[in-house]
This record gives sequence, C-alpha cells and structure tokens, in this order.
Amino acid sequence: MPRPIVATIDISALKHNLRVAKSHAPNAKVWAVLKANAYGHGLERGMRGFAEADGLALVEPEYALRLRELGWRKPILLLEGVFDGADLATVVQARLEFTVHCVEQIALLERAGLGSDPTLDIHLKMNSGMNRLGFKPDAYRAAYARLRAIPAVRNISLMTHFANADDPLNPGLPLLQQMQRFEQGAAGLPGERSVANSAADLMHPELRADWIRPGIMLYGATPGAASAETFGLKPAMTLTSEIIGIQRIEAGETVGYGSRFVAAGPMTIGVVACGYADGYPRHAPNGGPVLVDGVRCGIVGRVSMDMFSVDLTQVAGAGVGSKVTLWGEGLPIDEVAHAAGTIGYELMCALAARVRVVEVGG
Ligand SMILES: *Cc1c(COP(=O)(O)O)cnc(C)c1O
Repeated sequence: MPRPIVATIDISALKHNLRVAKSHAPNAKVWAVLKANAYGHGLERGMRGFAEADGLALVEPEYALRLRELGWRKPILLLEGVFDGADLATVVQARLEFTVHCVEQIALLERAGLGSDPTLDIHLKMNSGMNRLGFKPDAYRAAYARLRAIPAVRNISLMTHFANADDPLNPGLPLLQQMQRFEQGAAGLPGERSVANSAADLMHPELRADWIRPGIMLYGATPGAASAETFGLKPAMTLTSEIIGIQRIEAGETVGYGSRFVAAGPMTIGVVACGYADGYPRHAPNGGPVLVDGVRCGIVGRVSMDMFSVDLTQVAGAGVGSKVTLWGEGLPIDEVAHAAGTIGYELMCALAARVRVVEVGG
C-alpha cells in the first residue's frame, strides 16, 4: 500500500495551455520551455503535451539527448549553451541549437575544429540589464561578428531575457528599458528574435517577436500577481493526499515541532500525509490554504518531513481517509506558493521523487 500522496499530471492541460500561449502570439513560433524535468511534470510528459510546439527549450544537455531518443525531431534549444568542448560533438550530432552568452563559449567554438559545413544554429544572448547571462549591448555586435566568422555557424538568432516582465514598471529595471537596450544593441543585425517568457507573452503583446519562450504558463501557473485562471490556463499538476490521523485538542495545546500553533479553544485537527520531503514548502504559515473534502482549511503548526496538520473545524464529517488537495485543481498553486513566501515555479520543480505520479488526459 503506497502512501496516499499522488501528483496527477494532466496532459490535456499542457496541450490546452500551449494553445493559450499560441493564441496570445499567433504570429510567433513557440519554444516550449521544459527545463527542470518539465517544471517537475516529467520530461516525457512535457514532450507529449507540447507536441504542437515549434521547438523545446531546456538547460540540461543530457535531457536534450533524451528528447531525441524519445523521438522529438523538431528543434531543441539549450538555454545555457554548452558547458565544455566535449559536449560539442554530441550537440552537433543531435542537432541541438544552443545559446552563446559569453566569450569563453565563442572561443570554444573557434577552437573546436567544426569544419566548414554550416550546421550550427546559435542563439546569441544579450544581457540587457538583468545581469545574469549574456553580452552587454555594446559588446553584442562584436560577439555576433566573431560567431559569423565561424564557418560551421549557420543561423544566429538574437535573444534576451527580462527581469521584470511580470512587474513592468519596476524602478530597478523597467521592462521597456530592457527592450530598448536589446533593440539598440541588436539594431540591424539579421536573425530571428526571441525575448518573451510567459509574463511577456501574456501581458506585453508588443514584445513577442519571432519566437516566444513560455514556461510557467504551460503548466497552468502564472509568473506574477494575476491568477492563472483569468488567463484561461488550467493546472497541469494536482497534488493530493489524505488525512491519516485526527487529534482533538483543548485550548492552550500546541501542534507540531516548535509548538508554533497554540489552540485558542477546543478544536479538531487532521494530519495530512504530505511534508517537505514530498516537496511541500516547509515555510507554509499557520492558515496556509489546503482543501479537505473540497473545503478550504488552514495549516496549523510547522510542516514536518512527512506530515503537517490542518484545522478541520470547518469540515463536518472529515476523518481519516478524507481527501486533501495540496495544490492544483480547485486550489491554485500560485496561492499556496504565495502564502509560503515563494512562487509556483519552485513548488512544481521541487516535487519529490518519492511522490507517485498518475497521468491523465493523454
Ligand atoms: C525558464 C526560461 C524561460 C521561461 O520562463 P517562464 O517565466 O517560466 O515563462 C524563458 N527563457 C529563458 C531563457 C528561461 O531560462
């Protein structure tokens, strides 16, 4: 008998969300981003869910090869590029496209002896202000010219990544300032452009360019404050479990490690078979949202490795075996994440290997 915690992955939701992404950018091609094991949903499931995408993008070369083995024939893009020269032969053989974001990566290509057949499709990354990966705008042209001089290079696409697409007026780095820097640094250079993550695809139609690179929205969550539902997105991962114990406690009694919760009066609490070793955030507060038999309840006490407790005062008839929804259908992951001071991305990606996965909607 396995523990009752289950992650249900809905392939039809992945397909639906991809259609939503496309509907926002009907003239753009789509890189469906499935790094981090398809944001915790499973690489192979992501591949099937995104069968209609124009390409798949990720950061793990070994998973990219796995996609080829699984039969993906369309483009694959490595968003962090290659990590050492030894990867290059494999990358060429598997026809992987890749980002070039630093001079070391250019030097690697120059030294590699790749021959004169133009076969490599490269995505030259600009650091337009986020200061993560990429060439500064004033170094971009020189990088482009150096790549262009390598005979094995076929297409060079131009890309950048936004720090604040979900918060466009952020005074630290307004979205349009990043876009202007990108446009100036890349002005006149030939090549397809890709700039938009989910937030830009959903909220900034003017920025979509030739390709979009949606990730989080494909899984039915949103990058910012707005709810996924208002964009017509469906949760692809629903995490459920059961109540496995009940305690009746009196005023003044406490719950869990550190006795973080103190009962104000007599109450019934339920113990949920889900803890941080399943990927549930340990920082979820008292009152953090959970559904028991479809009724919204609040967490009481600290989340421990395998369990946490909920206040069952509002749920008449709840007992051992009652069904609990941690996130997904009926309880947006963004809301659970927000309560715990994190984002939906982190929760999905952290789904633990020990959680049983059931697939539906394929
Ligand atoms: C992860 C990633 C994306 C997708 O971002 P979301 O916010 O999940 O839509 C797009 N582009 C790059 C370069 C990324 O690393």
